[in-house]
Amino acid sequence: MNVSVVLFTADLRLHDHPPLRAALDGSRQVVPLFVRDPAVDRAGFAVPNRLAFLADCLRDLDAGLRERGGRLVVRSGDVVEQVAKVAAETGADEVHLAADVSAHAHRREERLRRALVGQGMGLHVHDTVTTAVSPGVLAPAGSDHFTVFTPYFRHWSRQRLRDAVDAPRVVRVPDGVGSEPLPSRTGITGLSPGLATGGASEGRRQLAAWLRAGVAAYEDRHDDLAGDATSRLSPHLHFGTLSPVELVHRARRAGGPGAEAFVRQLAWRDFNRQVLAARPAAASVDYRARHDRWRSAPEEVEAWREGRTGYPVIDAAMRQLRHEGWMHNRGRLLTASFLTKTLYVDWRVGARHFLDLLVDGDMANNQLNWQWVAGTGTDTRPNRILNPVTQAKRYDPEGEYVRRWVPELADVARSAVHEPWKLEGLDRAALDYPEPIVELSAGRERFLRGRKPWTGRTARP
Ligand code: FAD
Repeated sequence: MNVSVVLFTADLRLHDHPPLRAALDGSRQVVPLFVRDPAVDRAGFAVPNRLAFLADCLRDLDAGLRERGGRLVVRSGDVVEQVAKVAAETGADEVHLAADVSAHAHRREERLRRALVGQGMGLHVHDTVTTAVSPGVLAPAGSDHFTVFTPYFRHWSRQRLRDAVDAPRVVRVPDGVGSEPLPSRTGITGLSPGLATGGASEGRRQLAAWLRAGVAAYEDRHDDLAGDATSRLSPHLHFGTLSPVELVHRARRAGGPGAEAFVRQLAWRDFNRQVLAARPAAASVDYRARHDRWRSAPEEVEAWREGRTGYPVIDAAMRQLRHEGWMHNRGRLLTASFLTKTLYVDWRVGARHFLDLLVDGDMANNQLNWQWVAGTGTDTRPNRILNPVTQAKRYDPEGEYVRRWVPELADVARSAVHEPWKLEGLDRAALDYPEPIVELSAGRERFLRGRKPWTGRTARP
């Protein structure tokens, strides 16, 4: 075999990259290709924060390839047409890519198969590139996927993972393959000011630091809002600048309860992916219909988006999202519960706002976590409501997280920082901070009235 194309999608790395390894083993030359597909933009997925992170990733991938004698080829247009075109230009007879779970990814794979196989070319779709355990490998009797995390995790933990694959030493790219310039951050407007830097080099640096100095305390500290003691590796997992298989191996080697708890979260990621792979419609349709009569409350939604609900921990988290394009997991749980339960607004409204800003915004993890919190997903206690005051007292006991993101409350005493409405007289009048937009018990009753009692029966979307 002379030339193979490797189509990079959500796997923008050279370390532990089975498609690239297979292409290099089977061919003399390889075209590492990235296609900027307008269909992704049209689907509302190409938002400033992720475009900027993506630009960093592509630049870093190109630099890594150049160190090995190659380069990245970038094209724009329909992904299938572009792959076929590059294959025709270079005489390639094989295309390698990573399997992925969204409806878009399924369609892409199907269309590629039809277009390439019709021309006598081979399409190789590689598993365990974007997940540690492939969707569909684990399933309970009588179903095509697990609907509950705990039994899934038991099986997941027993799976033997493949070994991680070394990065290649040399990549030979055919001469004369045209490429568009690499996308860059320059000119992208509307970025979150505290946006993280992308790219596999940065991801590997962060991972090494995390395994050295962070993961050991993860079990105890992952919910500490102010401590910010989670890995922050989610954008690297989303763009595939880090490999989930490699992460599990390295965390297990680090050992200890912190690493075990961290690996469990990586299993949650695979869990959501196997749900979406089996039910692609769950990106937009209730996984379990609850017959909700969601409210339309544009002013309250706007207050939620802007971080002006009058509930300090909710506002802090929503402002962190806007400022960093990222939010702590506890904040995601609280803000999503507040929108879907306390305000009783459709989870799709919140999921869309998160996707507009999150640098790790991800079809499987975002949509299915929103559904989990809304009680339309895989949570076995679908009607639980998180109380933002008691949760804030537990996970931000000193009020440090709130003061960091809501400067209006910077001087409020610890005893009132999560309940500023309890301040009296001048103290309260001096605050430029809204009154709560909803009373928690009223919100709770409205939600429980609006949602029909859950019968425990599963309705497939
Ligand atoms: P860590 O705590 O260090 O965990 C390590 C990795 O495990 C994460 O990077 C992530 O890949 C995975 N992980 C952790 N928690 C979860 C979880 N609950 N479900 C699935 N995977 C998990 N995660 C995304 O990657 N993209 C999203 O768009 C996204 N949207 C979310 C929306 C809501 C409403 C909620 C409640 C959660 C969402 N999550 C999402 C899951 C989780 O909040 C983030 O993965 C996590 O906060 C990222 O920070 P970290 O990398 O420091 O996580």
